[in-house]
Amino acid sequence: MKAIISHDIDHITVWEHLFKDTILPKYMTRMHIELLSGKISLREYTLRWSDFFKNKWQNVDELITFNNINNLPSSFFVAVNKGVGLNYTNTSALLWIEQMKHRNCEIGLHGIDFESQGLIDREYNLFHELTKIETFGIRMHYVRNTGQTFQQLANAGYTYDSTEHAFKKPYKIGNMWEFPFQIMDGWIIENYKKWQSLDLKQAKENTIKLIDKAHEQDLPYLGIDFHDRYFSHAFKTWLDWYMWLVDYLKTNKIDFVNFKMAIDELEKSPSV
Ligand SMILES: [Zn+2]
Repeated sequence: MKAIISHDIDHITVWEHLFKDTILPKYMTRMHIELLSGKISLREYTLRWSDFFKNKWQNVDELITFNNINNLPSSFFVAVNKGVGLNYTNTSALLWIEQMKHRNCEIGLHGIDFESQGLIDREYNLFHELTKIETFGIRMHYVRNTGQTFQQLANAGYTYDSTEHAFKKPYKIGNMWEFPFQIMDGWIIENYKKWQSLDLKQAKENTIKLIDKAHEQDLPYLGIDFHDRYFSHAFKTWLDWYMWLVDYLKTNKIDFVNFKMAIDELEKSPSV
């Protein structure tokens, strides 16, 4: 089994949310619940205020550096459309996409439209026009999908999608590869709540169970979604969890690939 780690860019700045959505009040409530329930330290709490005043809600640069040092390919999903608490501009997105291109990252779309073929096609074309990237994949924001979404994404021309959450091997829909993923940072650490509800030890135990399950089911690729937003000392459990996970996978001789590398492997030997 190999691991495919990918990162969704949900936020770039704090101010992009001002008067646009309800993310800021939710964020405030969450950090106070986490402090009062003892899940975050006073240091994390203070650092969160400091991010707020620095207007910095992304950690892309730091995450690419960490991935590079550890020889893991960086794969990002970046949005060019707004919705469900995602409110950054295309100008901000493109600045980061330029950096990602220079640092050899794989770049896909973080999708918003998931219901109408017309809107899905429009989002695909917009991403292509803005980024000039020829072949790319997608993951839907909040992994939203209907029974038709995956077929519609294949129709639009995506090379791969990684929206499905399931313990399944990658499979093809038309010319598109669907890469179901198994591990999402938020689902582990928040554990079905809207705030951090597990400590690092519990998060590690639950993660190991999922990795073992992927092994038992003989999955060729373990899909992991980690948000750059949490690669920060302001979210110490998340940061420590990600660094531990990379180390755990390395110790267990699991190699890292991106989607493109996995597709090349799958198409060379379909029985992987
Ligand atoms: Zn998202």
